[in-house]
Amino acid sequence: MEHSSKTDANWRQRCRFGFAAVLACACANGATMPETYPRAQAAIRALQLGVAIEHGLDPLTPAIPALFGTRGEIVWQRLLGGAEHALGNYDLAEAHWLQAQRLALAYGDAGTAADILEQRGEQAAVSDYARTERIANELSQLAERARLPNAHADAEYFLGIVDRRHGRLDSATAHTQRALEAATALGDERDMARALSFLGLIARDRGDYSSAFDLEMRTLAIRERLGVDLAGTLRNLALICLDLGDDKLTRKYFTRAIETAASRGDSLDYSSALGTYSSWLADIGEYQAALDAADEALLLARALDNQPAIGFDLFDSGRALTGLKRPDEARDRLVEALAIGRALKQHEIITRSQLALAENAYAAGDIAQSRALLDEISADSSAMQFKPTLVAVYALADKLAVAQGNLAQALDYAHKRSALRDELLNTRSSRALALLESQYERAEAEHKLAQMTLDNQQQAAQLAQRQAQRNRGLALIAMLTMVLGLLAWRFASVRKLNGELAVRNAEVESQRTALSNANTRLQQQATELFQAAIRDPLTGISNRGHLLRQLDARIAERTRDNCELAALLIDFDHFKQINDRHGHQFGDRVLVAGANALCDQLSVDDIVGRYGGEEFIVATGVRDVAEVRQLAERLRTRVAAALAGLLPDEPDATTISIGIALLSRMPAPARLEDLIEAADKAVYAAKSAGRNRVVVHAA
Ligand code: GH3
Ligand code: MG
Ligand code: MG
Repeated sequence: MEHSSKTDANWRQRCRFGFAAVLACACANGATMPETYPRAQAAIRALQLGVAIEHGLDPLTPAIPALFGTRGEIVWQRLLGGAEHALGNYDLAEAHWLQAQRLALAYGDAGTAADILEQRGEQAAVSDYARTERIANELSQLAERARLPNAHADAEYFLGIVDRRHGRLDSATAHTQRALEAATALGDERDMARALSFLGLIARDRGDYSSAFDLEMRTLAIRERLGVDLAGTLRNLALICLDLGDDKLTRKYFTRAIETAASRGDSLDYSSALGTYSSWLADIGEYQAALDAADEALLLARALDNQPAIGFDLFDSGRALTGLKRPDEARDRLVEALAIGRALKQHEIITRSQLALAENAYAAGDIAQSRALLDEISADSSAMQFKPTLVAVYALADKLAVAQGNLAQALDYAHKRSALRDELLNTRSSRALALLESQYERAEAEHKLAQMTLDNQQQAAQLAQRQAQRNRGLALIAMLTMVLGLLAWRFASVRKLNGELAVRNAEVESQRTALSNANTRLQQQATELFQAAIRDPLTGISNRGHLLRQLDARIAERTRDNCELAALLIDFDHFKQINDRHGHQFGDRVLVAGANALCDQLSVDDIVGRYGGEEFIVATGVRDVAEVRQLAERLRTRVAAALAGLLPDEPDATTISIGIALLSRMPAPARLEDLIEAADKAVYAAKSAGRNRVVVHAA
């Protein structure tokens, strides 16, 4: 059963979506239509769509039981009923549901039958009280027979509706209370809200506005949570605020009710909220807005064929037209409203229409007609229940008595009106106070709750913030520790590396120094070796080998340049005798002094070396024979002078003979051997000629 009612809720929801879609579609189409009320037009289109669906699906219906059996047919009929209900085709919906219910009963499925009865009851309760009562009784019997607690709760609820309609408020309260208890026991929140809301309506009827407001607020809380049936509750709240004279709240709740009905797509709720809103707009003198709302509601009510709603909307539009000073149109509407009220035996419509017609007649100056209508109202005992209407009745009666010159009666009516108004005002003000107190308490509780929630949120936020700060701190410390560790490690390893590097550097440095020293030594040794290789150890001038290599290179060089070169072979005279007389060491000193004397006379470009023993060679570039002869003579005299210093007692003992050979006089190609041989020959010639002289080799 729980499951089944959830399915119903789902189904209703889907039907509403369907309705909303159709509404949106129709609204879009409505843009091309010159109609004032697109929603009413949409509702009419939805009805047409419903009929079209009916015709379209008709051929399918016989095939359903053959294909899916009785259960399938029940589902099918319920689907069609739901669709037609959603589209506002209540008669068609009723027919399908009735068919489904019969099938379910025949099939032995009492639960489904009860669910369908509930749907039918909900639909009937809007406008058809007699059928509502029949359905309620049927539900009651079914609940008894099949032991269905929820069907019992539904039956109680519908009986409550019927009783309230008939003015039996105590009985209505009792039924609704039982419905509420049953729904509470079943945990059915939707049905609980339904019963609470209805108890609110009854409380309002009794003038217990504080309870009414409280009950509707409880309903609102549940329905807001469930997201269903909000428009009706908001409308009821608007009505309570209206009765309490709170214009601001009234307008707020009406606006919300209409917006909710429009957005959630329930045309019944929408039409109902709109009609009531129109009535209030007329109360506060906004007649044009009232007429617009009433006209739209009327169009919808006619489309839905909701007779009570048509009656009320006609009445409201009549009042609005009266306010707009269009009395004839107003009278037509009111007369029609009265007729519907009588047909339905709806006392509120009857009484209020009669009063409005009486006021209309009075305004038109038809005192008799006005009087007759007032008498009719006074004769109806149930009419006297509607106290606000009664105040207006007394006020009009007062005016009529004055018009008829019956002052005593006028005074009587004035007193009655005053007393009733005082009673109402008193009730109203005390109720307004109660409402204010309840509102205040509610606001206070909500404020406290909000404050606590806020505090909790703040504390949670602070805790979270602290936690986050602590986490960040910990992370930072961990990171710093890691960085420090890393740095320490790096520092230690760098220091170690630096130490190793320093040792290595020192090693490298010492090795470099050693290498450099070794290199220097090597270079010295090499130099020494080289000098030793090319120098004559006694005199320090080029030795024979180096001398001959130098001379050979110089011959090639001068031949290539076609320049003259002279080679001078110098031989010490009678040197054997010097050695013999003064010793070999002295002979050495003579040789050294002679070589030095030779070098003193030569330039750096000249070649000088020891050819062997006491023989030396000088090679020099000259222009001609004269120049070389001159050089040779100078060498001979200077050497002689230098050596004379060594042996002062034997000035002629130390002389030299010089033989000269000229490159230009050699047979080509000039050779070293030829040049030396030629110089040797010239020396030999000088010796032969008496020594201490210079001889040039002839070609
Ligand atoms: P002449 O005038 O004909 O050249 O007679 P001379 O004695 O100079 O010629 P000789 O060739 O007969 O003798 C050369 C001498 O030179 C022989 C040798 O003892 C001496 N002598 C050669 N080399 C050296 C040396 O290095 N030191 C010394 N003290 N004497 C040397
Ligand atoms: Mg010699
Ligand atoms: Mg000699």
